[in-house]
Amino acid sequence: MKNYITGNFIFEKMVPKKAKGSKVWDIKGIEYIDLSSAIAVNSLGHCNPKLIRQLNKQAQLIWHSSNIFTNLPSQQLAQKLVDNTFAKKVFFANSGAESNEAALKLARKYSHDFINKDKNQIISCYNSFHGRTLFTVTVGGQKKYQEGFGPLPKSILHIEYNNQEHLKKYLNDNVCALIIEPIQGEGGVIPAHLEFLKLARRLCTKYKIALIFDEVQTGMGRTGKLFAYEYFQVTPDILTSAKALGCGFPIGAMLVNETLAKGFSAGDHGTTLGGNPLACSVALKAFNLINNKKLLENVKIQSKKIMEFLNKINKINTLFKDIRGIGLLIGCELNEKYENKANFLVKLALKNNLIILQAGNNVIRIAPALNINNADLNLGMQKLEKTFINFISQYK
Ligand SMILES: *Cc1c(COP(=O)(O)O)cnc(C)c1O
Repeated sequence: MKNYITGNFIFEKMVPKKAKGSKVWDIKGIEYIDLSSAIAVNSLGHCNPKLIRQLNKQAQLIWHSSNIFTNLPSQQLAQKLVDNTFAKKVFFANSGAESNEAALKLARKYSHDFINKDKNQIISCYNSFHGRTLFTVTVGGQKKYQEGFGPLPKSILHIEYNNQEHLKKYLNDNVCALIIEPIQGEGGVIPAHLEFLKLARRLCTKYKIALIFDEVQTGMGRTGKLFAYEYFQVTPDILTSAKALGCGFPIGAMLVNETLAKGFSAGDHGTTLGGNPLACSVALKAFNLINNKKLLENVKIQSKKIMEFLNKINKINTLFKDIRGIGLLIGCELNEKYENKANFLVKLALKNNLIILQAGNNVIRIAPALNINNADLNLGMQKLEKTFINFISQYK
């Protein structure tokens, strides 16, 4: 297939054409099991019939109405998010990066208007990922995404993830925001230590710093809780969501408590498509389906199964030095013998008709749909086992 898309993507040869639940078919009709949910997005499976129905229903009513007007689906979705979280207000965007952009701008504006004009430093963690706008790549802790794009926005400092000493050393009155992923996703599926998050909360309160949890990947049921902050029982001031929020329909959100919400006054920030009725209507349906005891229970049950399977396999042929994660966000870190071969392993999986992900060069990531059924999961694990055996045989 001739490629007309800009060269920043390295597409696989396989081109998906059709999908249903946790199965994907390519343009040749070959069937794949998807244990990636298209990077933690299609959390209710591909082409979920209830979402399709909702999309069609809203498409007949109104698609877009501009932010000159409010609309029913966006208010209903915002109310759902408020009723089920710490938040009191919501800003809708179209992506994770834009949601983080809004969060970071809000934190600076709030400090500027209500505390101190020079309180503008943003702290984030090395190896974090917060999106690809210039502001969010700068805040993200990975040099490779920043190189060549300078000059970069200023007053942004990186500390080590899970390092409590760094929190004590670098948080002070000049800092306006600390942004953390409760589990570093792209950075290698690394869960935060509870004590790190607790100390972050304490110090942010002490110095009036906005604690932002980037839950673009960990939110919307991924950990078995609606949002990961509930799992850790540490409440942020601002939370960002995207990926699974629309289950594949583009939408992002920034959730904020009463105090910080005051940072945005009329005209301070905006978006053309953010909060449009079509996206919000689909996301509202997705929210109701995800915020459901049985579904969240399935996350825990299937997570346990995958973990047991991975640990069992790893006992026989030690591929991984660590198998970790929460709920259905699971990472396997390759041991020294296979160092930085995650990409090769993911490609081998694809040859075995299985879609999995990498998270950095040394970790494979498994993030299936939250509603994956036993049959599809078993099929996926069989293909995974076959992939591991193929992989090991290459290094004998
Ligand atoms: C994917 C991701 C983003 C970026 O989301 P986009 O929709 O690609 O802008 C930001 N933060 C985290 C933690 C992510 O996983």
